[in-house]
Amino acid sequence: MIYQALYRKYRPKNFNEIIGQRHIVDTLANQIKANKIVHAYLFCGSRGTGKTSIAKIFARAINCENNVNGSPCEKCNVCKAMNDAANIDIIEIDAASNNRVDEIREIREKVKFMPINARYKVYIIDEVHMLTDSAYNALLKTLEEPPEHIVFILATTEPHKLPPTILSRCLRFDFGLISVEELTVHLKNIFKNERIEFDEESVKAIASAGEGSVRDTLSIADSVAAYCEGKISFEKVLDILNLNNNETLIELTNVLFKKDLGKCLEIIDRVYKQGKNMSVFAKDLSVHFRNLLVIKTCNEPNKILNLPDNLYEKFSAQAKTIESKDLMEAMKIFGNIESELKYALSPKILIETAVISLILDENIKKN
Ligand SMILES: [Zn+2]
Repeated sequence: MIYQALYRKYRPKNFNEIIGQRHIVDTLANQIKANKIVHAYLFCGSRGTGKTSIAKIFARAINCENNVNGSPCEKCNVCKAMNDAANIDIIEIDAASNNRVDEIREIREKVKFMPINARYKVYIIDEVHMLTDSAYNALLKTLEEPPEHIVFILATTEPHKLPPTILSRCLRFDFGLISVEELTVHLKNIFKNERIEFDEESVKAIASAGEGSVRDTLSIADSVAAYCEGKISFEKVLDILNLNNNETLIELTNVLFKKDLGKCLEIIDRVYKQGKNMSVFAKDLSVHFRNLLVIKTCNEPNKILNLPDNLYEKFSAQAKTIESKDLMEAMKIFGNIESELKYALSPKILIETAVISLILDENIKKN
């Protein structure tokens, strides 16, 4: 049997199954019950907070012949037709890969046609902030005079990038992060359903590591479940979370020596928002540089490092791409800030400064 990721397997099918976002779900369900929907919605919020899930349920619910408390009934002919992947009344567009103006123009052409099975034709445009200016203009023309049978649901992680002309045409909902408590309850239900043994401590650790995102939480849960084979233990959860830490160190080192400052700052910001102690992170980074240097210079490095095989392979591959003297320099710069970090008001800025000085150092080779 093909393994199905938990995130896909437990994708909500109706509003009751949505984790968190109660105020949004209630408002949308009330609009459906009162038959008072609008032509354009804007869903804003971080990844994994339910924007696309809610959009899909809403798209089916407004078309359902017999909605149950605002959710699609799953039984009527329209619901059945909508669940068919081939249906053309709910159209999902990923603006990240379709940002060309032609595609939006095509929407403008197609909105004239009536839906096939349903009352409304629904366009769900994900990552709408990725559209180009001319695509925005084309979209705006449709939003200004939407045909009666058309509903747009625009979703974005970065609403500040949207032009005010688009913002003003949409009913906006801001999706908050999902709380650790909500994620914990969700995880427990899933583990019970999957007949996986767990303890309170482990579930909490996974839920916290998910940082408010159902998708991230479940993808960590996937790794943990695979690693633990049916019985989750706290030690193993820590192993997996630590592995994520190593992945981050590899990722940051990689872009650092590519001298991609934007990506570096992005990763540091992500780590910061995960609530990781910045001093510890700087130290981890120093240790990582040192590990790479050991790999480059010793005959039998893993006798010193004692890393698990898969990690050792990853580190070795990275070590090949960076020169020893550059690693020395990186260790020196991060060593210098280590003592300052304890007293710094903003340790994050110190780390950013260290990264910037490494990138600006012309003696360090760009990968
Ligand atoms: Zn229905």
